[in-house]
Amino acid sequence: MNILYIKVKAQKVLKFLKETYPDTKCHLIFKNAHELLVGSILSAQCTDKRVNMITPGLFQKYPDIDAFSKASEEKLQREIRSTGFYKNKAKAIINCSKQIVQLHGGKVPCKMEYLVKLPGVGRKTANVVIGNYFKKPAIIVDTHIMRLSRRIGLTHNSDPVKIEFDLRECISEKHWTFFSNSLGDHGRTVCKARKPLCSKCKISEICLYFKEITTHNKY
Ligand code: SF4
Repeated sequence: MNILYIKVKAQKVLKFLKETYPDTKCHLIFKNAHELLVGSILSAQCTDKRVNMITPGLFQKYPDIDAFSKASEEKLQREIRSTGFYKNKAKAIINCSKQIVQLHGGKVPCKMEYLVKLPGVGRKTANVVIGNYFKKPAIIVDTHIMRLSRRIGLTHNSDPVKIEFDLRECISEKHWTFFSNSLGDHGRTVCKARKPLCSKCKISEICLYFKEITTHNKY
């Protein structure tokens, strides 16, 4: 793909997102870095809405990283069961909290290089925390960003890390977190996974997916 062409397209998408979702924000409810970290681990293969249903009670029982590091795995599994993959998630939350206590004095680190070394923390979770808590630029490649960036034609990759770096190339750094959160909003409301509402979409004229379905008369 021609990088200049993609950059121009990305600018148009960004302009649309600024006009349409100016007040976008992370949909997970959190008061501090560890709540966002735990919420983000719980949100894997689960909606933010469902995570938000259990986290207020969870954060009352475990008010800090130290408390999570000492949690009973079986008990935590029961408490987070509704978010799915609860066995892996409970293990990740406990082990990651232990490591934060041991290596970072109980404080969630703010740098990618430290965050991705924590058990159960990948680049997506790290970027959620970096962008939405530490307020540093971060491209957050969740399921919405993967789907939309490919449909629109900002990347041809399917690997999340490659998508992250493709988007870093075509969006200026200061807009990374806004771009991620607002593109996610567009994914939730219009460019839905099963049936994108292309007739209601204001960026259809620059969208690769729309071009392909109209060219093949599938629309
Ligand atoms: S035109 Fe359709 S596929 Fe393209 S971004 Fe809009 S809703 Fe998604």
